[in-house]
Amino acid sequence: MEQSIESFIKNLVRDTIVHTLGELQIQSDRQTYVIANWKMNNTLSTTAEFFQKINSSKDVSVVVCPPTQLLYPAHLFIKQFGKPIHLGGQNVHWAEKGAYTGESSTNMLKDVGCEYVIIGHSERRQFAGEDDDLVNLKVKQTIKDGLIPIICIGETLGQKNSMQAEHVLSTQLVGALKEIDSSNLIIAYEPVWAIGTGQSATAELSQQTHAYIRSVLKQILGEKADQISILYGGSVNESNAAEYSAMPDIDGVLVGGASLNPQSFDGIINVFAKGEQR
Ligand code: PEP
Repeated sequence: MEQSIESFIKNLVRDTIVHTLGELQIQSDRQTYVIANWKMNNTLSTTAEFFQKINSSKDVSVVVCPPTQLLYPAHLFIKQFGKPIHLGGQNVHWAEKGAYTGESSTNMLKDVGCEYVIIGHSERRQFAGEDDDLVNLKVKQTIKDGLIPIICIGETLGQKNSMQAEHVLSTQLVGALKEIDSSNLIIAYEPVWAIGTGQSATAELSQQTHAYIRSVLKQILGEKADQISILYGGSVNESNAAEYSAMPDIDGVLVGGASLNPQSFDGIINVFAKGEQR
């Protein structure tokens, strides 16, 4: 009996929060994004095929982030096929120019049609040793030069299991946004254990985490935090996208594996387009 009263109250509180946040979201003007991270995949011909097949929606900002070598061809294909799709880099250097073999600057990305750039992806944190200070330098350079950074944060499985997730996320946010006073940025919550594993975080857990992320953003940026889109990333596909789109604090998704298949990616765009006829 005690148990059922407790769960009744829990459900009531949860429903009230979701309802209230849902109403707030309706009033909010946060942009909805569906973003593709191709990582080190695709060729010239599959890039052409992708942009020929892919649709877009006026309700969703679609951003595709190909490898550096495919950025300019992608820009040309987007124009050729007349698609309102935006382009983003997967990484950028913090310096304006100089002796940094193999790197690309913000101006180079803009020159080939980019408006966005992914910064601090967990794969780069793992294999290229990127830390919060480096992420912060890149974010500063990116905002200064008028590109929109897509800042990735997320905890590992070990950190999740040892209940450190919130600490990790707040540390990454505070580090990435040091001396930044702009809402012209996107946060992608990508739990490392969910990336490329097929083990996506449940929509409920992601909603809770996104609400926590927004509370940290509020501490850093004040009211501006309400304008920042927070995306979920980690094994999103056509089948689970609707669960995320229903959550008030999930403003879109960052998609890896499923973005390589134009049909699957299109399916995800459709879900976030709120059923609008395209
Ligand atoms: C990613 O790497 O940003 C990502 C979300 O990958 P996947 O969708 O394959 O898990």
